[in-house]
Amino acid sequence: MAEAKQVVTRIAPSPTGFMHIGTARTALFNWLYARGRGGKFLLRIEDTDRQRSTPEATQAILRGMAWLGLDHDGAAVSQFGRVERHAEVAQELLSRGAAYKCFSTQEEIAAFREAARTEGRSTLFRSPWRDADPATHPDAPYALRIRAPREGETVIDDQVQGTVTFRNADLDDMILLRSDGTPTYMLAVVVDDVDMGVTHVIRGDDHLANTPRQSLIYAAMGWDLPVYAHIPLILGPDGKKLSKRHGATGVEEYQKMGYPAAGMRNYLARLGWSHGDDEFFTDAQALDWFGFDGINKAAARFDFKKLENLCGQHIAGAEDSDLLREILAFLKVTGAEIPTSEVQELLLCGMYCLKERAKTFPELIEKAEFILSDRPIEPDEKAARSLDAEARAILGELTPHLQNASWSRNGLEDAVARFAQDRDLKLGKIAQPLRAALAGRTATPSVFDMMLVIGQDETLDRIRDIVGHPAT
Ligand code: GLU
Repeated sequence: MAEAKQVVTRIAPSPTGFMHIGTARTALFNWLYARGRGGKFLLRIEDTDRQRSTPEATQAILRGMAWLGLDHDGAAVSQFGRVERHAEVAQELLSRGAAYKCFSTQEEIAAFREAARTEGRSTLFRSPWRDADPATHPDAPYALRIRAPREGETVIDDQVQGTVTFRNADLDDMILLRSDGTPTYMLAVVVDDVDMGVTHVIRGDDHLANTPRQSLIYAAMGWDLPVYAHIPLILGPDGKKLSKRHGATGVEEYQKMGYPAAGMRNYLARLGWSHGDDEFFTDAQALDWFGFDGINKAAARFDFKKLENLCGQHIAGAEDSDLLREILAFLKVTGAEIPTSEVQELLLCGMYCLKERAKTFPELIEKAEFILSDRPIEPDEKAARSLDAEARAILGELTPHLQNASWSRNGLEDAVARFAQDRDLKLGKIAQPLRAALAGRTATPSVFDMMLVIGQDETLDRIRDIVGHPAT
């Protein structure tokens, strides 16, 4: 039996200054499809637009991919670096008779379109040079155009859209090589995909209309068409095209808002693809499950609540040391202070209680304030309200009980419960000021967790700072 060809996919972003969330989703689909089948996932930077394609714009894509953990095989390919090869294929198409020289000038074409518009005719440009005798060719600059069929249909078999039929009468003789010798995107994308060995083209459905035109190049060169899967756009929650109005559209914005990459991957995978009713899943599951049959034909709507919910689940389920690493990376990209190794050690100790119910890293860090803050703890406004004279007195009286308690969860729970019972106090009457004294805020892990993490000496010191009279 013939061995199945190795799957090769790619993401081919145009550097525009930032990495759009839609590009990230397309990259993820390509990555999942290839990696789940032992295939290769390649990156090509479509940097032929020299004005927009700055090194910074390319860096933004590389950073976005790295943050999302979408590793690609080999070095990123620069499309611009391959212009000579594109031109070579254009010449080959010319020599095969599949392309022709068109001497029409920009002005002539613009005038034709203008006239067609006023007369209500099709503006599809039909070059007068298509069948011209080469003997009549002027000594002037020319573009190379493909000789597109004018009759019949071109059928594209798409894994998501199904069988899509295009009327050849609607196809123009697209330009392959401009009169200045530069290749067009239509040509470059095909030549690059073929040379890179791409077997599956998974991309946004805004490229579906380009596909019959690109297929002409494959056919003329005798190349095998790749498998196509055109995935629907991402819409905002209101059903309109996702834009700044709805919230962040750049991958790095999500990184800076503190969403974990694993949660982002999970959410982006769900954006237009489903596996039964599964919402939360791991990378391993996604790699195992991902396929074209789960991709929806309808556009997906971005749901910020769902993203947060999934991110919370990924934070809660992550390994403590992985989380610490991610939090430090998050602090670094946001320019925040990096905690000392001592504090990092404490964060690791307390991670078990910090990671519960935090949907983003800033939420987790807020809960970690009792670790990150130094004495004397400055209570915020809300916390200060639970530190009136009566509350301070309660903390003062609690102190010897904590001094004598065995420093374990049971020991601490017993000591506080007994104290509450003796004084006929509700637990909240003790926990609230204790929380304020230990953390200076109200959104914290439980007081027992905090005491266990910072230890007995630090706990007593913080209480003394608040009570204002160190016990002897
Ligand atoms: N450079 C194109 C884009 O950013 C992608 C081309 C393709 O995937 O074929 O939309």
